[in-house]
Amino acid sequence: MDTTARPEVSPTPRHRRTIAVTGSGSGIGAAVSRRFERSGLRVIGIDVHDAQVTADLSGPGGRAQALAAVTELSGSRLDGLVVCAGLGPQVQPTEMIAHVNYFGAVDVLDGMLPLLAEGEAPAAVVVSSNSASLTPAHEELLGLLLDGDEEKACACAADVDGATVYGMTKLALTRAMRRRAGAWGKVGVRLNAVAPGPVDTPLLAGGLEDPVLGPLIEALPVPMGRRATAVEIAAAIGFLLDPANSYIHGSVLFVDGGSDALLRPDSL
Ligand code: NAD
Repeated sequence: MDTTARPEVSPTPRHRRTIAVTGSGSGIGAAVSRRFERSGLRVIGIDVHDAQVTADLSGPGGRAQALAAVTELSGSRLDGLVVCAGLGPQVQPTEMIAHVNYFGAVDVLDGMLPLLAEGEAPAAVVVSSNSASLTPAHEELLGLLLDGDEEKACACAADVDGATVYGMTKLALTRAMRRRAGAWGKVGVRLNAVAPGPVDTPLLAGGLEDPVLGPLIEALPVPMGRRATAVEIAAAIGFLLDPANSYIHGSVLFVDGGSDALLRPDSL
């Protein structure tokens, strides 16, 4: 008998899983928080309102405050992270979209990696958008975002229309996710993105009310013939965070009713 054989890893987690969710106060973040809480997980919500951790992720001070609070509340150990906080393309000034959607997201990801590395079957999901692939590229803004110079990137974003800034922040966030697959894989933390199409939330309602953006959003063809609910996006996020899906890493899951496939059928 081989007495050196390692015991099989139990599929049942040894402790209550703890998941941090940014943007937990509304829409997709609220739906994913409810989903996890219903299945017995512990959720640490982060938002500017209606959250356990109140923090403004638009600047370095609020991001540091969020990290300190989550470190303390979680005992320096997270099993999951959902980076969901975001602003829609209708928000003015447009540089705020870059501060929150890109820099707020990557700083939270990088700041919380050490907590995730201590977790059990840990994974993170960033909420991108199908705007990442459907928005015509603004190479200068995209390059500045990915270079990580918040001041220069946001100065550039200030002179660009909101829909383009939104699309570039989501494209940069998707690339930032993919660029981290190597390093995160080495420390055993899975990292993926969901790319939703239009989802019925307050963010989308704001876009629909905008006289320029509203008709553009309405014109997006969706093969499924309807918009998503936040609950449907939460299900996809739950799938990517589930320890059973242990080999999914560095992937972008489109949850857009088929719009990206319809408009870019040969993109792979
Ligand atoms: P939402 O407005 O309902 O929720 C976004 C949450 O983020 C809010 O609770 C808000 O307070 C929070 N937030 C915004 N700025 C913040 C800041 N500076 N610091 C901390 N929290 C902040 O919107 P939603 O539709 O649920 O959006 C969630 C994510 O999904 C966003 O990243 C958005 O870009 C993305 N998304 C949404 C859609 C859609 O159609 N609704 C489509 C694709 C992607």
